Amino acid sequence: MSISLAPPHVSEQTFTGLRCKECGHMYELGPRHVCEDVCFGPLEVVYDYDRIRSRVSRATIEAGPTSIWRYRDFLPVAEEPIDVGTGFTPLLRAKRLGRALGLNNLHVKNDGVNMPTLSFKDRVVSVALSRARELGFTTVSCASTGNLANSTAAIAAHAGLDCCVFIPSDLESGKILGTLVYNPILMAVKGNYDQVNRLCSEVANTYGWGFVNINLRPYYSEGSKTLAYEVIEQLGWQLPNHIVAPLASGSLFTKIRKGFQEFVQVGLVDDKPVRFSGAQAEGCSPIAQAFQEGRDFIKPVKPQTIAKSIAIGNPADGPYAIDIANRTGGNIAAVSDEEIVEGIKLLAETEGIFTETAGGTTVAVLKKLAEQGRIQPDELTVVYITGNGLKTTEAVASSIGQPFTIEPQLASFHTAWEQAQASHPHLT
Ligand SMILES: *Cc1c(COP(=O)(O)O)cnc(C)c1O
Ligand SMILES: [Zn+2]
Repeated sequence: MSISLAPPHVSEQTFTGLRCKECGHMYELGPRHVCEDVCFGPLEVVYDYDRIRSRVSRATIEAGPTSIWRYRDFLPVAEEPIDVGTGFTPLLRAKRLGRALGLNNLHVKNDGVNMPTLSFKDRVVSVALSRARELGFTTVSCASTGNLANSTAAIAAHAGLDCCVFIPSDLESGKILGTLVYNPILMAVKGNYDQVNRLCSEVANTYGWGFVNINLRPYYSEGSKTLAYEVIEQLGWQLPNHIVAPLASGSLFTKIRKGFQEFVQVGLVDDKPVRFSGAQAEGCSPIAQAFQEGRDFIKPVKPQTIAKSIAIGNPADGPYAIDIANRTGGNIAAVSDEEIVEGIKLLAETEGIFTETAGGTTVAVLKKLAEQGRIQPDELTVVYITGNGLKTTEAVASSIGQPFTIEPQLASFHTAWEQAQASHPHLT
C-alpha cells in the first residue's frame, strides 16, 4: 500500500480545461477567454464532476471555512487560495419587505456586507487573483464600473500583487476613495464603461498583466457560483423557487444558474425548477429591452443612470441571461432612477439593509414583478443584494430625512419630539 504525501487538492485538481460555450472546442487552462482557434465565443471552466462527487458531501462542506473556500472543489484554483473571508454572507428572512410586497416567503442574500469591500465582486476577485497568482502574474488589473476596482485593489494589496485598475472617470466618490485607499495605480478614463473595457482589452494584449475580467474572465466568473451554493446551504439544502438578481454583463446571473445545476449534478441537493428574473436600470437596459421585445440578441446602448455599477451598454453575457429567463419562466425588467431610489429606501426601512443603486434596482424590479403577479405570493423567493449603500450616498442624499438639530436641553428635545410626532403619526 502506498501513501500519497501530496495534498489531494494539488495532485487531483477538479478543473480540467476551458471549453468554448458556443462550439465546444477545448483549450488548456491558461490565461485566455475567447475561442481563438474557431469561433471567438467565450470560454468556460470544465470540471470533473465524478471526482467532485466522490470528494464532497454536505458534511465536508459544512466542516469547511466560513468563506467561499468551503466550496473550493467547485472553484478553478489549484493551490492555496487567497482567503480574505470572502463569502458566506447573511441570508435573511425578509418578513417586513415581504409583507410590503405581498410575498410570504422572501429572503434577502446580503452581499452588501461581503468581505473585504462590501460587494459581490469580492467573490469573483478572490477567485481570479488566486488563479492569477498561480498562473504567475505579478501585476493584476481590471476594467471596472466601481466595485470591481475596490475589490481588485484590496485583495491585490492583501496578496502583495501590483495593481493597476481602470474606471470611468465619472464614478461616485465612495467608489473612487474605496479604491485609492489601497494605493493601486488608478486610471480614470474619460469615457463610459464600454470604452474603458475596449481600452483594457488593448492593454491586456500589450502588457503581460492579469485582467480579472478579461484574460482571467473564465476563472473570475466562476466565483459568482458561490452565491448559488450559499443560498442552497442557507435554505437548509434546498433550491429556491424564484431568484431575482441584477444584470450588468449578465455573468452573475448565468453563474447562479450554473451553481444550482452543479449542486444538483453532484447530488448535494434535489432538483426542482427555479425561475430566474433579472433587474436593470431603464437608463441602461439592453438586456431587459431585448427580453421585452422577444429578441435573443443585444442592441448596445449608451448608459445614462444613477445605477453606475450595473451600467454596461454592451453586455457580453446578455444573450445567455435572456435564454435563462425564457427557459425558466422568469422575467427581465427595468426600473427608473426614481424607482431605484425608492427601492433603496424600501429595503432600508423594512429590513435595515442599506444597499447601493444596484440593490435599489433589484428591489424595485422585485416590487414591480410582485405587483404584476409575476412572482407568486408563496414562491420561495431569494433577492440578491450585491452592494453597499455607503458607497453611493449621492444617490439618496436628497431623498431622505434631515436630523432635528436641538440644544442640549430637555425643553429643546421636547419641542422637537412633538414636531417628529406630527410628521410620523405612528410614534407615541
Ligand atoms: C458588477 C456588479 C453586478 C453585476 O455584474 P455582472 O457583470 O452582471 O456579473 C451587480 N451588482 C453590483 C453591485 C456589481 O458591482
Ligand atoms: Zn468556439
